[in-house]
Amino acid sequence: MSLPESKTSPLAAPVSSLWSVGAERAAQLARLDIHTIEDLLLHRPRRYEDRRHFRKIAELTKDEPATARGTIVALGLRRFRGGSKSVFEIILDDGTARLHCRWWNLPFMEKYFAMGDEVFVYGKLSETKPRVMTHPETEVIEGGEESFIHINRIAPVYPLTEGLPQRWLRGLIWRTLESKLKVESCRLKIEKTGAPAAEKPSTFNLQSSTIEAIHMTHFPEDLADVEIARRRLALDEFVELQRQIQQRRKTFESRAQALPCGGDNRHIKPFLAQLGFKLTGAQTRVLREIRADMNGAHPMRRLLQGDVGSGKTAVAACTALMALESGFNVALMAPTEILAEQHFQNFSKWFEPLGVKVELQTGSKKTSNIQHSTTNIQRHPHAQPSTLNPQPSTLFIGTHALLTSGFELPNLGLVIIDEQHKFGVAQREQLVRKGRYPHLLVMTATPIPRTLGLTLYGDLDVSVIDELPGGRGRIKTFIRAADPAGAGPKVWEFIREKLAAGRQAYVVYPRVEESGEKGLKAVTKEFENLKARLAPFRVGLLHGRLKGREKEEVMAAFRANAVKVLLATSLIEVGVDVPNATVMLVENAEAFGLAQLHQLRGRIGRPPPPGSSGAAGGARESYCILISDAKTAGANERLKVLEETNDGFRIAEADLKLRGPGELLGREQSGLPKFRFGNLADDLDLIQQARELVAKTG
Ligand code: ADP
Ligand code: MG
Repeated sequence: MSLPESKTSPLAAPVSSLWSVGAERAAQLARLDIHTIEDLLLHRPRRYEDRRHFRKIAELTKDEPATARGTIVALGLRRFRGGSKSVFEIILDDGTARLHCRWWNLPFMEKYFAMGDEVFVYGKLSETKPRVMTHPETEVIEGGEESFIHINRIAPVYPLTEGLPQRWLRGLIWRTLESKLKVESCRLKIEKTGAPAAEKPSTFNLQSSTIEAIHMTHFPEDLADVEIARRRLALDEFVELQRQIQQRRKTFESRAQALPCGGDNRHIKPFLAQLGFKLTGAQTRVLREIRADMNGAHPMRRLLQGDVGSGKTAVAACTALMALESGFNVALMAPTEILAEQHFQNFSKWFEPLGVKVELQTGSKKTSNIQHSTTNIQRHPHAQPSTLNPQPSTLFIGTHALLTSGFELPNLGLVIIDEQHKFGVAQREQLVRKGRYPHLLVMTATPIPRTLGLTLYGDLDVSVIDELPGGRGRIKTFIRAADPAGAGPKVWEFIREKLAAGRQAYVVYPRVEESGEKGLKAVTKEFENLKARLAPFRVGLLHGRLKGREKEEVMAAFRANAVKVLLATSLIEVGVDVPNATVMLVENAEAFGLAQLHQLRGRIGRPPPPGSSGAAGGARESYCILISDAKTAGANERLKVLEETNDGFRIAEADLKLRGPGELLGREQSGLPKFRFGNLADDLDLIQQARELVAKTG
């Protein structure tokens, strides 16, 4: 992100316009993504060194990195193994003790040091007798006019690239601040005393507080100032982003007219009557919000959040019926064929008695040729569709194929995207451009922490189903350390017990999709092992490289309880619903994100369908066993969150803090804004502040 509205300011000039930056330095800076003067001024220090206070060499420890300062009293390069290996060493003395600084196999280090040089050194000891630091960070102290920039202060230490000296970059930033930001701030003061134009949002930026914050970031007087400055600059970034978001939304609303899709309840009433359960309070509230949109002046743009099992499908069905009642077609998209297939089965069962057609369109399966049904496409937008369209409306269900195969969905009133985080932001955009601004409902099962909701989905309205339907079985979660080869004998015994009692189980392996042929071999081998281990119970295998038809056969056998155990990759993560499966074993759980594991375990503890002969009074007790092969305590600590809570929002927050937004949302997620100073895990207050600021000032 950049400072807002700075494209025409002197800060937008290339760094090469600075007199001390020649072609070579400019190329080095470009490798750090520093192209303009603004980039340079926003280059964030990696850490700070308090060069007003030093640690005595005699007091350096093995535990804690610290800065010391000493004079080189000896130095030398030693080569060995016929010259292919080397170690370069300098010995520093500060009057309290000597410190050996060593660099392995970096013989060129020799040219940076000379006897008698004064050197700053930062690091921790690797040995204490003698005192040794291996590959410490160093900086030779030079006298002269500019030495005050580097010593006797808190000095910034920047990310560098090969050939670029720390000292040079620090000097450059100092001089640039002196020459450029002073000018900017004068200009700003003049504007501020002038017309009220100065209060327009275009001067948000480079308010004197921004300038102060930039100074504080590079040359803080106190280490506590660094965070104050970071927050100030983060606010600028969030303001810029919110302005874009709110602008996009405004443009959209000024262009797009809503199709009248509120419906008349003639399908919804009988649908709800045969559903077999009453909607929860949260489902009803969300449906009210949706109906207001579908009746509104602008096309709906709504994100529906709800934890696994909160009943988003029923809400989607009612929403679809509103559009269908109004005479429009509806498209429902799922991230996998299995899920599309499952939706197709459910929705056909629900909708066909109502006289609504349901069509499936996936890569491997079509129930009709959609291209042919392009009647009524050029109707007058304000006409009452039901009177002009004698054909029953249709619900099209599919995967991304619905998007990419190039056919037009006729008379489209509503698009529903299930499990959004599997779709990239770009795909969402693409879809919306397809029709004449149909209403859009995006559903996500990974609860999205507020910070991400406001940035990534900031142009969507949000509804939350914050209540689970009753009759949910409890899921007990256990973390077990891996026996060298995964789950131990006790775990298998436990699973056999449950299978003997008539239940079914999932066994999940990660990594298979990612590691190609090798992964496929691994899972095939594991399949053989598992069959042997669990005989006579039948085991099925499900992974992403099977053909669509093969996948379906395995799933059908599992649903029919012919296959008792499903060995799967994370493919089953989303939506699959088999109430009799009450055990889930996840191998290599440490390789998954928390949110993903929470999704996975949402596959068990499912209630039996209403009116079935399953367990009376709701779902059975379910068990999720996470086998962790983690060597580090940190990874196990992370998994503990899942033992402790079933609350998807808390889990997503934890995941965001521990692994960052890219990992939480999945690698395919595009469109995540990059911030230099903003932190999506911590800055909720700033994001909200930015949103309000922009809303107020337009
Ligand atoms: P998700 O939000 O994860 O997509 P689903 O829509 O698949 O959840 O719903 C999970 C299960 O809960 C389904 O079996 C569904 O039939 C059931 N269900 C949904 N709403 C209710 C309700 N109000 N009362 C009882 N069961 C419900
Ligand atoms: Mg679902």
